[in-house]
Amino acid sequence: MSWLTEYVRPKIRTLFTRSEVPDNLWHQCPNCQQMIFHRDLAANRKVCQHCGHHMRATAAERLEWTFDTNGYTRIELPKPVADPLRFRDTKRYSDRLKEAREKTHTDDAILVAHGTIGGRKAVAAVMEFNFIGGSMGAAVGDAIVAAARLAVLQHAPLIVFTASGGARMQEGAISLMQMPRTVIASQVVKDAGLPFIVVLTDPTTGGVTASFAMLGDIQIAEPGAMIGFAGARVIEQTVREKLPDGFQRAEYLLQHGIIDMVVKRTDMPETLSRLMGLLATKDQRDAA
Ligand SMILES: [Zn+2]
Repeated sequence: MSWLTEYVRPKIRTLFTRSEVPDNLWHQCPNCQQMIFHRDLAANRKVCQHCGHHMRATAAERLEWTFDTNGYTRIELPKPVADPLRFRDTKRYSDRLKEAREKTHTDDAILVAHGTIGGRKAVAAVMEFNFIGGSMGAAVGDAIVAAARLAVLQHAPLIVFTASGGARMQEGAISLMQMPRTVIASQVVKDAGLPFIVVLTDPTTGGVTASFAMLGDIQIAEPGAMIGFAGARVIEQTVREKLPDGFQRAEYLLQHGIIDMVVKRTDMPETLSRLMGLLATKDQRDAA
């Protein structure tokens, strides 16, 4: 037995045990269930090459995809009082913040950067859905205000990419106060005669939909993005009617005049640059 158990069996075992394969090399498309190699997915900006489904993206990825190569600088954002209500549900809010920061490597649910898109100056604020569901608390409000001020200072259009579950419940009324604040911020940009463009991405709901996300001079959405205020199930229960197919999806909203365009992710930078050109005044065009 010794020859078999001590020599042959270990050899066979090494033949059949797989070397450690990272489990994130292949991704399954949530829409068509096809497997996609991670490099193909990254090259295609997280759009499924089989069915065109637009997967969710991080704020950092969106900055990379939107601005010209090496064409942007992130700005440091104000840091409001953390956990102003000392809120606790199943977990402390301060612990939730800590976890979210470790997971996303961002301070809160938004990043702001300035740079060039297709050679045109722009300021972009991009929401991070992975940070407590992209919820809007004081930090997000502060960031939108900072982005608006920067746009005015630089005399550049403001582009906002939204992705949000709504209000940051752990900040209570302070979270709700961000709605009028961000509305005023968007008005500051418009008062300066600068374009304010909103790109709605999957999902955009609640207090973000009910404030700055619907106030763009141009409202763009990514294909298939879920955009609404309350969830479909809540509405269905309230109105006691079956909702139509595609309700709250970008294409449905385009058909019903809520948004202006549905733009593929790969076409987004070119579209934004073109729109900025069209919306610019003669002075701005001359300065660019
Ligand atoms: Zn797919």
